[in-house]
Amino acid sequence: MDHHQPPQHHRQPPQAEMKSRFKRVCVFCGSSPGNKPSYQLAAIQLGNELVERNIDLVYGGGSVGLMGLVSQAVYDGGRHVLGVIPKTLMPREITGETVGEVRPVSGMHQRKAEMARQADAFIALPGGYGTLEELLEVITWAQLGIHDKPVGLLNVDGYYNSLLSFIDKAVDEGFVTPSARHIIISAQTAHELISKLEEYVPKHSGVASKLSWEMEQQLGYTTKSDISR
Ligand code: AMP
Repeated sequence: MDHHQPPQHHRQPPQAEMKSRFKRVCVFCGSSPGNKPSYQLAAIQLGNELVERNIDLVYGGGSVGLMGLVSQAVYDGGRHVLGVIPKTLMPREITGETVGEVRPVSGMHQRKAEMARQADAFIALPGGYGTLEELLEVITWAQLGIHDKPVGLLNVDGYYNSLLSFIDKAVDEGFVTPSARHIIISAQTAHELISKLEEYVPKHSGVASKLSWEMEQQLGYTTKSDISR
């Protein structure tokens, strides 16, 4: 018998199983691949990082652009992929093939609400108007206290530098409060970003109560009522 072995109940859990506080992360990203290989590489690295941390993916569905790359990486790594697609975008010639589970919804508003409801955190990769709109909406919801979920910006090759400078200007000019500025967490790599998101402690003014949010949903914005989880 080896007397140097610690007793069974003192053994550490295996290092390979990385535990995250997030079960599922929502990724917003370009439906285009972008002009630099670094954008495509970052999408694949983000997918791999989610797999390594045992995190599932929710995204806008389809295989176009960076959306296809991140979803394929998560799917290939054996994690669950949920694609939320408006029925009008479902034809393959628009969106391409979706890996994993597909959830059809009636429109773009329902898609955003469903993606937000399903996720424990949000990450934006480089993208265009669609990505910016999705990102700014979840930031706005966080500012109002509608949800407490962390929001991260993967600033690949400084792609979002000018957006971050603009938001700093909005703080200087008195349109964004310093505490609301802290909602946006940014990093240059997926590993660093997810580590920062794990540590995020929400601070918001909470001007919108959960009750007013539920009322908004009853007016038809979405059918589910627990985005604020
Ligand atoms: P963009 O950043 O303008 O490329 O838009 C990306 C976002 O818009 C995605 O997260 C989707 O919500 C949506 N989107 C735009 N085009 C498509 C498409 N062909 N298939 C699926 N979603 C799309």
